[in-house]
Amino acid sequence: MFDHPSFDAHEGVHMFHDAASGLRAIIAVHSTARGPAAGGCRMWDYDSGEAMLKDALRLSQGMSYKNAMADIPLGGGKSVIWGNARTDKSPDLFRAFGRAVNSLQGQYTTAEDVGVSVADMEIVREETPYVAGLDKGEAASGDPSPVTAKGIFLGLRETAKRALGTDDLRGKTVAVQGVGHVGSYLCDHLAGAGADLIITDIDQAALEAVSKRTGARIVAPDAIYDVEADIFAPCALGAVVNEQTLDRFKFKAIAGGANNQLIVPEMGELLRRKGILYAPDYVINGGGIINVAAEISGNYSRDWVEAKLARLVETLGEVLDEALSEGTPTNVVADRIARERIAAAK
Ligand code: NAD
Repeated sequence: MFDHPSFDAHEGVHMFHDAASGLRAIIAVHSTARGPAAGGCRMWDYDSGEAMLKDALRLSQGMSYKNAMADIPLGGGKSVIWGNARTDKSPDLFRAFGRAVNSLQGQYTTAEDVGVSVADMEIVREETPYVAGLDKGEAASGDPSPVTAKGIFLGLRETAKRALGTDDLRGKTVAVQGVGHVGSYLCDHLAGAGADLIITDIDQAALEAVSKRTGARIVAPDAIYDVEADIFAPCALGAVVNEQTLDRFKFKAIAGGANNQLIVPEMGELLRRKGILYAPDYVINGGGIINVAAEISGNYSRDWVEAKLARLVETLGEVLDEALSEGTPTNVVADRIARERIAAAK
């Protein structure tokens, strides 16, 4: 563990197994310097325990940085459950997961991520109060995706201002990869702003629904990397900026919601050299955690969420400006600011 390339001084990495329900989970707590750790729970059918651990560590560190950039009083953590979200879910599994979360006594608060729904989190709530993104209860904030998508839309315009010389998206083309929770809301915002959309997904029904609403052109999953578009908005998977895809990009900017878009941080420099302006993922996609933070505070306020979101978009603009003026990759500037904010809180 301590030699793991993604260990990055995690405060705690907790493994859980529950034979009765089949739960295999990791809760990674990267930092509580800025407050109790918070971050979603991902359910994924990993190829190996090693792949699961790596995902947990990278996502958890990403949450520390994300929460610092969103300037919310939370540290960074993340949980992963090993299993197929379509076939392996059961109430007992999420109850066992809830007990695992509860055993950390508030050091970590969980919420939804890929493969995990509000309904699943309602079951987790039966075992622990350290869960957010719920539908019921006084401070309940529900699905964070609409707020995430709004932040990405505003951040994409902020990025367009610098990469295209305008934030007027009329006549501009945006390629959206993944039209799930975040991607579909993002498409609605973009279409409303007059952008032309090219979309892809592996879910045909989701594609058709979005295309019908927005007039988006549908392409096959692998074709999205080759399309002629001004901006690429990855809203499905991580690691989509890699050695294979980079040469295919004709985009002027990348601004989307997926976590861990760069397969390795060095991709940031390669994007810079190619003249593609990259909105660091954990900065632009912080809207959802702002919404969750409002719920965790016990006093949900829409105005507070909107104000934090507006400030986050300004922060993104500052990161982009600093990177452009220094000739430094945007992800390097964002990492530096995030680490400074975490260190200052220690
Ligand atoms: P989701 O599961 O609702 O949507 C993901 C979509 O991607 C699905 O429609 C899926 O079919 C599609 N997909 C999967 N494999 C694909 C492929 N190979 N090519 C094209 N499409 C593919 O998840 P979501 O909540 O919309 O989250 C999307 C991304 O944004 C994830 O990386 C997530 O970690 C990140 N994110 C989400 C939130 C949030 O509030 N939901 C917040 C921050 C970051």
